Amino acid sequence: MSAKLRLTAWFTLMVLILAAMVLVFVLVINSYSITDDPAGRLVRMVMHNAGEVEFDKGRFEWDDLDPCRRGVYCSFYDDEGQLLLGAAPEGVSPELNFEPGILRTFMAGEQEYYLYDAYVDMDVAGIWIRGLVSTTDRSGLMHTILVLTCTLLPVLLLLTIGGGWLIARGAFKPMEDILTAADSISDGDDLTARLNLRRGPSEMKRLSRAFDRMFTRLEHSFNAERQFASDASHELRTPITVILAECDRARRKDETKEDFLESIGVIEEQGKHMSELVQQLLSLTRMQHGTDKYPMRRADLSIFVESCCGEFVPADRRGITLETDIEENVEAAYNPALMSRVVQNLLQNAYKYGKEGGHIWLSLRRHGSGAVLTVRDDGIGISKADQSHIWQRFWQADAARGDESGTGLGLSMVKEIAEFHGGSASVESELGKGSTFIVNIP
Ligand code: ADP
Repeated sequence: MSAKLRLTAWFTLMVLILAAMVLVFVLVINSYSITDDPAGRLVRMVMHNAGEVEFDKGRFEWDDLDPCRRGVYCSFYDDEGQLLLGAAPEGVSPELNFEPGILRTFMAGEQEYYLYDAYVDMDVAGIWIRGLVSTTDRSGLMHTILVLTCTLLPVLLLLTIGGGWLIARGAFKPMEDILTAADSISDGDDLTARLNLRRGPSEMKRLSRAFDRMFTRLEHSFNAERQFASDASHELRTPITVILAECDRARRKDETKEDFLESIGVIEEQGKHMSELVQQLLSLTRMQHGTDKYPMRRADLSIFVESCCGEFVPADRRGITLETDIEENVEAAYNPALMSRVVQNLLQNAYKYGKEGGHIWLSLRRHGSGAVLTVRDDGIGISKADQSHIWQRFWQADAARGDESGTGLGLSMVKEIAEFHGGSASVESELGKGSTFIVNIP
């Protein structure tokens, strides 16, 4: 449950309880104001005191007596009418004879009072108890209101504060955990660690998932950067060495224009190779680690492949003929930039490793709801042993090594793109007879 919902539910509950209490309060006070009659209270209080009067060893005991309570004033007299203990409202002293058990009224100024006498006979002596109360007294009601207010309100207040505090603490505790975990991940350089918050309010779980996604992206970017740096430094070493050696050679040789042009040609060749390598490496790394976005769209792949073949210009045609057999209206979900790279890389290889004056056959066929792209050549072929290696980064068959136009990244890119589309890439080849590359797009 979300923290927002918890807090709202709690305070709604508290308000409902408060409303219910106010209702009960009103009902209690209402019924009390109907039943609360000062005369009844006066008689009850006098009789209560009569039951509490004690005479011990010739002494009057008044420890348990209530001379003044809830608006009722009681006075205690001996048989001679001498006041022993008592209380009365200021200026009120009824000059009336004792008459036990009779409720009487008398006026004191503007105010009317009830008066009630009781006699307690204690064998050795007797005690008169005289109680009086104002006929309009509301002390009983006030007493009830006071009791209700002083007990219920503090309880409700404590409950509201305590409950609210506990909910707020529960809601924000995962935040502390997230901060601690995030700190330890960033401090410890452990980008593989994740928060994985399973308990707590839904907002915190969402926050934790967002953090985890961010850490995953960070980890991928970091890994991509590291791999790119290591691959680039490794693969650029050879062309850089060649460039430096060529510069050195040019400087030491007799400086004819032709010598310089030859050296510049070598340097230019290496520069192009480096540029292609860096570009391919960058796209491959970005795709592998998901650091670049490649939106997919469902479209006519036949037209697209046709146009890719039309636009493709081989580095060296070597008398090779390209034949295409493209089924019409084959639809598939693909990314155009990546798909054009697949066609280009396969055609480039087919021309490069095809035999002089040979053939290349490119076909596109519908397969289920997807497509199968096939590029076949009748070139040098690939040995069975090498077929498992050709998809690896930078791998080049011995025969191809030294061919400075290649980077060893073309096929790993094809495989990566096919898998990015949810498909696969495979090869069927025989040494000396030719190769068939098959790319499946589901
Ligand atoms: P390269 O830049 O070297 O062509 P690729 O990844 O495209 O890198 O290919 C890897 C290796 O696979 C090549 O060096 C080559 O030995 C082999 N290869 C690729 N395509 C073919 C093909 N059509 N015929 C024969 N061998 C091929």
